Amino acid sequence: MIHSLFDLEDNERHEITDHLFRKLDQYYTHTHLLPVAPVLNQKEIRDAVRKFDFNEVKDRQESLDAIVEALEKYTVHISHPAYFGLFNPRANYAGILADLISAVFNIQMAAWSHAPFAAEAETWLVEQFGLKFGYAPESVDGVFCTGGAEANQTALLCALNHQIPDFGENGLAGMEKKPVIYCSAQSHHSLIKAARTAGVGASAVRAIGVLPDLRMDTAELESAIQADLSQGFLPVMVAGTAGTTGPGAIDDLPAIAAICRKYHLWFHVDAAYGGAVVLHPEYRHWIRGIEESHSITFDIHKWLSVPMSCSLFLTKETQILKKTFSIETGYMPRDARGLEITDPFTHSIQWSRRFIGFKLFLSLVFYGWKGYADTIEYQVKMGDLLKEKLVRAGWKINNHSRLPIVCFTDKNHENDANFAPAICNYVVKSGKAWISVFPIDTRPALRACITNYATTEKEIDELILLLAEAKTAAGYQP
Ligand SMILES: *Cc1c(COP(=O)(O)O)cnc(C)c1O
Repeated sequence: MIHSLFDLEDNERHEITDHLFRKLDQYYTHTHLLPVAPVLNQKEIRDAVRKFDFNEVKDRQESLDAIVEALEKYTVHISHPAYFGLFNPRANYAGILADLISAVFNIQMAAWSHAPFAAEAETWLVEQFGLKFGYAPESVDGVFCTGGAEANQTALLCALNHQIPDFGENGLAGMEKKPVIYCSAQSHHSLIKAARTAGVGASAVRAIGVLPDLRMDTAELESAIQADLSQGFLPVMVAGTAGTTGPGAIDDLPAIAAICRKYHLWFHVDAAYGGAVVLHPEYRHWIRGIEESHSITFDIHKWLSVPMSCSLFLTKETQILKKTFSIETGYMPRDARGLEITDPFTHSIQWSRRFIGFKLFLSLVFYGWKGYADTIEYQVKMGDLLKEKLVRAGWKINNHSRLPIVCFTDKNHENDANFAPAICNYVVKSGKAWISVFPIDTRPALRACITNYATTEKEIDELILLLAEAKTAAGYQP
């Protein structure tokens, strides 16, 4: 029977599920025992994949075991408490369950009427987060995206549609003025990608210089806007960043807001990582000014610790998503029995899509706002501890973020371009921790971020020791 081929026979399915869940639970509870990063041997990894040739169906349980073991062996374990990496979280358990439930129901989010509970849940989250970020209750709209890149692209498309009334109909064709957008030189590169895919081109992105504290130089921003206006360009949007990807700088959002008001520009805030501080009553003022934005990118799959992928795009221009993305069709199901509803496909780059917001919904159900506030506070405190211990061990800190991100060097070797990469390489190769290199002022610095809620003082102490060991091993004076 074809049906039982794809569903599997009941017995086999139950056996596989029980076995797999035990194995996954083993991974989840014992991640800390694995090397954080694998030794990369491309041939071996490719062979491990290609031994599955799909011509013959082998024992399913054995195949699954082999695949899970290969993933354990050939993956950087961002769930590991000594992963001090790039905003990638350990996935909380609510988020994992939500992804599973979502797959079993195979929820289709394109039209409200196919998934009314799911659509209303996402709408509720959009409203709640709009309020958290300081938008007025009557002017909050938004949509769940696959990630910050899609959310930033959504922002640019909304800005273009807002500033250029017939952009949706005629695109850039026939426009006398070339649209330009502004962000800092430290902004995320997804903004450049957004410019390319939106058709304005990468040359439309003005990368404004940063001050010594790595925040956008807003005086330079204003001069650049004036220069563009006088040269016949069409300034469209300024994107401030709340928590840059490298050093976690938070741009002067009130100053950018004032410039956007003065020149009638769309003000977007890329708060992919740093937006999380809005959930803590004592930290939320760090991103003050975000409430003045037209739109916000906030990645849920970063600091809010759900599995990838999940991001939130918010806007206070309640008609703009519809204007940008709504399409009339004769075939999409419509039946909402007269309720005022939003069909997600009219708000999004995506059409058919999964219940992306569920991971956030279930996390809030399981842990509440308080659970998030406590976790964020814990990670900030671990970040402070890491900074303190690095200083005590003689390292020099190059960034000044209150977020739990630290970029650091050794003052004796900071001009040696090989130093940071050598130390980083040693740490990563050891499998005992994962850090990265980020250039500050063009000089490579080491970068560590408390991106995992399971990181404790123990992993921090071990990292400090490992860094000292790395210095000696790489031939530098301790
Ligand atoms: C991570 C990040 C992005 C990109 O988000 P994805 O979820 O990886 O697509 C954009 N902006 C900032 C500031 C980021 O940190």
